[in-house]
Amino acid sequence: MTNPHPLPDQPIPDRVLRALIVDDEPRYLNSTRLLIAQHFGSVDTAATGREAYRLLEHNAYDIVLLDLMLPDASGHDIMRAIRARRPDTLVIVVSGDAAIEAAIEALRAGAYDFLRKPYEAEELTKTLRNALRQLELHRDNRHFQQRLQQSEHWHRLLVNLSPDIIYTLDAAGRFTYLNESVEGLLGYCRDELLGQPWTAIVPEEDVEGARHRMDERRTGERATRNAELRFRRKSAGPEAAHAAVELSALGLYRDGPDGGAEFLGSYGVARDVSARKEAEATVRFQAYHDLLTGLPNRALFRERLSQALIQARRDGRMLAVMFLDLDRFKVVNDTLGHLVGDKLLQAVSQRVGRCLREGDTLARIGGDEFLLLLPSIRSRESAALIARKILAALDAPFHIEGHELFVTTSIGIAVHPDDGDALETLIKHADLAMYHAKDHGRDGYRFFLPDLNALMDGRLRLENDLRRALQRGEFEVYYQPQVSIADRRIVGMEALVRWHHPDKGMVLPADFIALAEDTGLIAPIGESVMQLACRQASLWQGMGLSSVSLAVNLSARQLEQPRFVEQFTATLQANRLPEGAIAIEITESTLMRDLDGAVAKLKRLCDLGVEISIDDFGTGYSSLSYLKKLPIHTIKIDRSFVHDLDSDGSTIVAGIAAMTKGLKLNLVAEGVETRAQLDYLASVGCDAYQGFLFSQPLSAAQATPLLQPQLH
Ligand code: C2E
Ligand code: MG
Ligand code: MG
Repeated sequence: MTNPHPLPDQPIPDRVLRALIVDDEPRYLNSTRLLIAQHFGSVDTAATGREAYRLLEHNAYDIVLLDLMLPDASGHDIMRAIRARRPDTLVIVVSGDAAIEAAIEALRAGAYDFLRKPYEAEELTKTLRNALRQLELHRDNRHFQQRLQQSEHWHRLLVNLSPDIIYTLDAAGRFTYLNESVEGLLGYCRDELLGQPWTAIVPEEDVEGARHRMDERRTGERATRNAELRFRRKSAGPEAAHAAVELSALGLYRDGPDGGAEFLGSYGVARDVSARKEAEATVRFQAYHDLLTGLPNRALFRERLSQALIQARRDGRMLAVMFLDLDRFKVVNDTLGHLVGDKLLQAVSQRVGRCLREGDTLARIGGDEFLLLLPSIRSRESAALIARKILAALDAPFHIEGHELFVTTSIGIAVHPDDGDALETLIKHADLAMYHAKDHGRDGYRFFLPDLNALMDGRLRLENDLRRALQRGEFEVYYQPQVSIADRRIVGMEALVRWHHPDKGMVLPADFIALAEDTGLIAPIGESVMQLACRQASLWQGMGLSSVSLAVNLSARQLEQPRFVEQFTATLQANRLPEGAIAIEITESTLMRDLDGAVAKLKRLCDLGVEISIDDFGTGYSSLSYLKKLPIHTIKIDRSFVHDLDSDGSTIVAGIAAMTKGLKLNLVAEGVETRAQLDYLASVGCDAYQGFLFSQPLSAAQATPLLQPQLH
């Protein structure tokens, strides 16, 4: 490829010098040719006017030695023709005519010099030398012109190829020059801006700030360097209405007549930094927002809250901070996967967002936790109103990826100034109030109360107490019979943990299992339940009550332990129990947390003869279809459905029963309290039940007599 833009220093090649001798006398023609040949690259000769015309037609000569007296033409005519066609050619007129008039006439007509025949060789050489010097001057001049043009072209190109806008203004601030970049960058034609004031491309609101930068009068160090400005685009189109530029400008001066400097105008270079600005804005957005929901993050929330606090203190107004935590969101995430969980979070944040006014800030600060700032409220009741609005907005189910999901949230509210003045305190108190709401059955809101601090201390104390309970062996296992509906025989016992707290007396699982799960203490607690249950099973076996299987509840944390199966069998062996002596109960969410891992372990247990039940069935989000792939034997229908039988929850129970039968699984009902419930369960083909109707969970000592009739 050839370079369309020659470099400025590229040499211009010298042409070969060419001469023509026109003379009708062959003697002169030849001697002259010999004399001048050394100075020229090529020498042509013509003996007639006709020939001269022909050669001149097709060639460009630097010098023509022209005899004025030709047989067939006038030398003067030929010379005129040369002057007309090639004014650069030097014509040296040669004539035998001694008359000075002829010479004068020729010179007047534009001849370079005059030689009279016969001439001496020296005369000719001298005239030629002068002519050649003249030619050289011409050539230099031509080179110089060409160089100048090239260089000018080159500089224009550099200026136009520059991605920056380059301009000059006259002393009145009007554009006198603009490079082509202005067209690509701002969409203006150069011509429409030339003669216009610089304010034509600066947004009106920026004009004051740009005044001493665009038409800069300063020079040197003090002149504008990298000042950030905005230029207006002619028509915005898909791009932003303004381009962000960095401007460097300086004043242009020349020496004035009075010796001072005369201001000519200014010169500026503006670099388009829109892309960089956009990137910076993105980074800033990411630093201050949660990418999943697009909501502000904790950092931005704190900033807004600190601003709002300053305002509220100054105006003596109230503001509210709310802490929202979705109830049981973890179940969705664990059972349906993160994709569904993420979409649910997005949908929830949109719904909550619609309950708010402009100026309120909803931030996502982690997993399923949100903070909400109401920067100005009239009373505590206004905050309560918003909380109720949010709870109501979440009432309707969410439809995500083919699942119908119900979400509730617990909301804690702290109000400035009542519940705290400092930023940290307000957030902490809203958080505490949220826990308080959770403790009161979730799906509700609670205001901060001073004694909540004590409640939190209570959680900490409870955790310590749990650790001590493990060391001191404060756990006991109670047993609740599972009864066959067909023949009223006890077919199994469920092991349920009880804690004998030194001060509080007996504590039920509801009051410590969740915390034990949170802190990981559930693993050692579960292990100790397992030990106690095995010991009891071996005692009962020793008494000949071998038909009773003992079911132990397993938490996800236990199942997740890599050597769980080995530990399980080791515990059985230590108590001399056959593998089938202990059954296990797991919930749907435990299963789904790591389905593949869980299934692999359950298969191994199943192969050993361990019975596996799905506990609290119907409260998770498991789909029925995969149940048949799982190595399970029994489904335990959750007690909430049994409870709802009294108020027409029968379709769900009947549905679960039909499905269980279809999959050839056992069906056990939990929480059966009334005869009517039992009758209904019998009618749909339920195999066994558990509940207060037959017996509460009992200590081992209380449970043993119940098993006596089973002796055979
Ligand atoms: P779960 O496995 O569904 O156990 C049945 C719960 O229903 C027991 O509560 C039991 O006392 C209660 N219940 C039984 N019959 C009736 C009835 O007729 N009406 C009513 N209203 N309730 C009845 P408990 O013992 O308080 O245990 C609660 C939950 O704590 C258990 O639910 C289980 O998920 C968990 N849990 C108990 N012990 C352990 C354990 O050792 N390890 C693990 N990981 N979880 C345990
Ligand atoms: Mg259970
Ligand atoms: Mg249950």
